[in-house]
Amino acid sequence: MASQTGEIVMQSLHTLLENETFLPSLQGERRKQAFTSLAAILSTPNKIHKAFLRIAQENGEVVRIPAYRIQHNNALGAYKGGIRFHESVNEAEVTNLAALMTLKNALHEVPFGGGKGGVSINPRNFTEKELYLICQKYVQYFSDVLGPDKDIPAPDMGTGEREMDWMMSEYKSINPGKPYLGSFTGKSIVSGGSLGRREATGRGVYFSFRYLMHDFLKEQQNWLAGSSNIFAKTALELGNKPLTIAVQGFGNVGSIAALEAYRCSYLQNKVVAVSDRNVTLYNNDGLSIPALIDYASTHQSELPTSEEALAELGIQAQVLDREAVLYMDTDVLILAALEDQIHIQNVEQVKARIIVEGANAPVTGEADKLLAEKGIIIIPDILANAGGVIVSYFEWLQGRETQFHTEEEIYKLLHDKMQKTMSSILPVYFSDPLALRQNCYVQAITKLSTVLYRQGKLY
Ligand code: GLU
Repeated sequence: MASQTGEIVMQSLHTLLENETFLPSLQGERRKQAFTSLAAILSTPNKIHKAFLRIAQENGEVVRIPAYRIQHNNALGAYKGGIRFHESVNEAEVTNLAALMTLKNALHEVPFGGGKGGVSINPRNFTEKELYLICQKYVQYFSDVLGPDKDIPAPDMGTGEREMDWMMSEYKSINPGKPYLGSFTGKSIVSGGSLGRREATGRGVYFSFRYLMHDFLKEQQNWLAGSSNIFAKTALELGNKPLTIAVQGFGNVGSIAALEAYRCSYLQNKVVAVSDRNVTLYNNDGLSIPALIDYASTHQSELPTSEEALAELGIQAQVLDREAVLYMDTDVLILAALEDQIHIQNVEQVKARIIVEGANAPVTGEADKLLAEKGIIIIPDILANAGGVIVSYFEWLQGRETQFHTEEEIYKLLHDKMQKTMSSILPVYFSDPLALRQNCYVQAITKLSTVLYRQGKLY
């Protein structure tokens, strides 16, 4: 498994062992054996499926595109995780992302295992029809291993409702007469998707921040003041004042997280910077996020890149280079773009005191350690960005019952689920020396170890 997740899994396993919280009912050799088995299970995926999708492009060229579906673990339920269309996709990356899904679902008690898919393309270089063919081929190649009770894909970077509708329809053609609504999640509403699914990841990202820095802090202020924990100090320092927020990435996750922050007026926080693959936009008085979302929706999901374009929209902002967002002097930085954005070379330039991981693995292991030492609060990916898979679970359930919830009901279910996880983890986080990421891993692995042990898998 690619380094970062594997490394934290191993660290967390050792923490469990040292604290004697790893399967406490086992003794001596038997315990050691269970520990070694669990380490092996978590550090390697159950199955790797790989194919080359052959597509005849509209210009007559024929391309063979590497595609993956990696099934990491299914102890807690069917494999579950998105399909990414991006040119950086490779086997190691998808494997790492699949492992993160196992941990994410375990952490939030979503009854699914972990999997991930990927297609190594830049979707902007393909026509709509070619993308349709890619989706169709993907399902044809992997249909044997997919299904509502086997492995349920969803959108990820570069894919969305359109792709899920195409894929579900191909799955349905290949499996006539079988249930198909639960074969893919993140579908459009007309194809059996759930209200609120599209916004779920971004909403959840903002909720994780708001819950920690507002609800939890308000309730636990006195208790936190008595704690000598370095992260409690940061939370208290920032807790009682309006915060400035920068958001890296203006796709489905970043734009919605920014919009949630913009709308959450009672906290008086301000989104002062947003970025995408071209630019960073900055205004110290706050940016009009709804106007920027409107603009992006008609400009291939991109932000305006010139001051003239901004002026036409009536938006005042400075146009800076795309990396600038990472180094802004803001209290909060929401990372909602790609992985490995903060690394050993640029970590010293980061000024934010709270980092929220909307993307998966946006901070490298080395940078993570340095930030934790400084008392910077990082709300990690498996905690912060689980909104997508949580609402995917509700979509899957709704498909089974063919009964659908309102948007408000979905948001309530989403917030309740995230709140439940956070309220069990935060008191531990603010009273022990471990960073929040380690705490989340420990909780997820504890759950997985108990289930795997009971299912006889730890011999
Ligand atoms: N791709 C999203 C994630 O990384 C959602 C996965 C899902 O809904 O299955 O969590």
